[in-house]
Amino acid sequence: MPIRVFNTLSGQKEELVPLEAGKLGIYVCGPTVYSFVHIGNARTFTSFDVVVRYLRYRGYQVKYVRNFTDVDDKIINAARESGEDPIALAARYVEEFRRDASALHLLEPDVSPKVSEHIPEILRLIRRLEERGVAYRSDGDVYFAVGKYSPYAKLSKRNLEDMKAGARVEVGEQKREPLDFALWKAAKPGEPAWEGPWGKGRPGWHIECSAMSARYLGESFDIHGGGLDLIFPHHENELAQSEAASGKPFAKVWMHCGFLDLEGAKMSKSLGNVVRLRDALSRVDAEALRYFFLSTHYRNPLSFGDKSLSDAEARMEYFYETLRKIDARLKGKEPGPGPVHGEPQKFLSDFEAAMDDDFNAAGALAAVSGIFAAANELIDRPPVKDKAVVERTLSVLREQVRRISRVLGLLEDAPEAWLARRKERLVKERGIDRGRVEALVKARDDARRAKDFATADRLRAELKELQVEIMDTPSGTVWWPAREISDSVPVTDGLSARIS
Ligand code: AMP
Ligand code: ZN
Repeated sequence: MPIRVFNTLSGQKEELVPLEAGKLGIYVCGPTVYSFVHIGNARTFTSFDVVVRYLRYRGYQVKYVRNFTDVDDKIINAARESGEDPIALAARYVEEFRRDASALHLLEPDVSPKVSEHIPEILRLIRRLEERGVAYRSDGDVYFAVGKYSPYAKLSKRNLEDMKAGARVEVGEQKREPLDFALWKAAKPGEPAWEGPWGKGRPGWHIECSAMSARYLGESFDIHGGGLDLIFPHHENELAQSEAASGKPFAKVWMHCGFLDLEGAKMSKSLGNVVRLRDALSRVDAEALRYFFLSTHYRNPLSFGDKSLSDAEARMEYFYETLRKIDARLKGKEPGPGPVHGEPQKFLSDFEAAMDDDFNAAGALAAVSGIFAAANELIDRPPVKDKAVVERTLSVLREQVRRISRVLGLLEDAPEAWLARRKERLVKERGIDRGRVEALVKARDDARRAKDFATADRLRAELKELQVEIMDTPSGTVWWPAREISDSVPVTDGLSARIS
């Protein structure tokens, strides 16, 4: 089955056909490094992380490029405020980004180019635009003449006349037409600047992605991605510059990820309600956050809130708990070939069918849930008597989870370790007194051994009051923070107050 993808450029789902058989080049607009990455950025990067993983799973040789915007007005302003050198400030946030990205289990792209290290490529591209007569100089700046490139707005499908009417010229800009945009900005005191044919200056925002994508993926490549906000003006301008310079089609497919907001409110730095990824990860498990992102189709909007996050973590607990049960049942055995119960392989085809349909990770998660429901049934209410069949089926299911979870970047931990961390987090969040709970559990075990069941029951009730559940297992009593509690501390409590 071919992969179908929604292409913003054509406005429809279409078959993904690589420019070169078996290979795919993908460029994703990366972070502007003037601050810590927030959960909205993290959603977009997680979506593309899974796209890349799935394309590799399907056997494509993928080259994944995600840039760092390290020369930009926002960086210059932040540096001015902190009294730091802008390039040094950006370099610091590149390192912080790397730390956060790895905490969220994001794959390292094959190339992570920085603007400051690609000035020669940018200069060459602007020169070419000048030679082709689509760029002009004005007082040390260089602008792209939108009027000279007739397909302008083919990506965002905006109406040019409306745009012209609404466009503003910023103070200090010397453009001929309001829609023209800067390719090169003349140096101002205190700003990073490089020597160019037009005097000292720095690149405008859009030109970097045109120059760096061409350097690493060629002038025409397969997929270009980013958040929805980038369609206009950033991607529209990239497209115009690149095609005007090369005379060839730029990216074949444009993919855009929907926005993440905070329970209905737009997350924006100017509103002061930005949740940093690292603050979110101090409250919720990284895989649970990935699960939360992936449980909504990447093109749809998504709201970040307590309930959905705690649901995501509870869901991951159910998955890990089931994995633990499967491992305990199989005890490291790999049952050989033979009959299985039902069609355990069908989950993998369900997973692939979902992902082939415009990377529907929510559908992929439904296949994962199907696997765990089937496994629980086999263990708790075996529909067949033959133990070898049960175990062989469990082993097939286990293998499918392994393959799927590598694509989703989930369930990559050892079940015991993950569950222990989850327990610790719940204990802390709910202020459970671990010492007291363990003493009560021990007293109850002693009472049971002495056949004093009245005391044992009283102690169980006391544990319940402390919001603790106990399970009697062959290897002893296990306790766990109660699953249904009324007054839980919201996962996001206090988070939005911590502004980056
Ligand atoms: P920036 O650092 O602002 O350049 O953004 C980096 C990436 O995150 C871009 O692809 C943006 O489109 C994307 N992005 C920014 N805010 C959000 C949001 N609230 N939800 C989803 N993606 C976002
Ligand atoms: Zn870009």
